[in-house]
Amino acid sequence: MIKCDHCGSHEVKVHFNGEVESKHLCMDCYNQYMSGVLGVELEPIIESFY
Ligand SMILES: [Zn+2]
Repeated sequence: MIKCDHCGSHEVKVHFNGEVESKHLCMDCYNQYMSGVLGVELEPIIESFY
């Protein structure tokens, strides 16, 4: 099962695809990420995982 890379939540909704790394984030961490922590330009892909 995919887990949020930041908090470990299973409610992963966002998948960042970077050239060197990819990230899985839940919505909470995604919002935090977008509101300042973002240091690298990544292209977010919003997905629904079941
Ligand atoms: Zn999270």
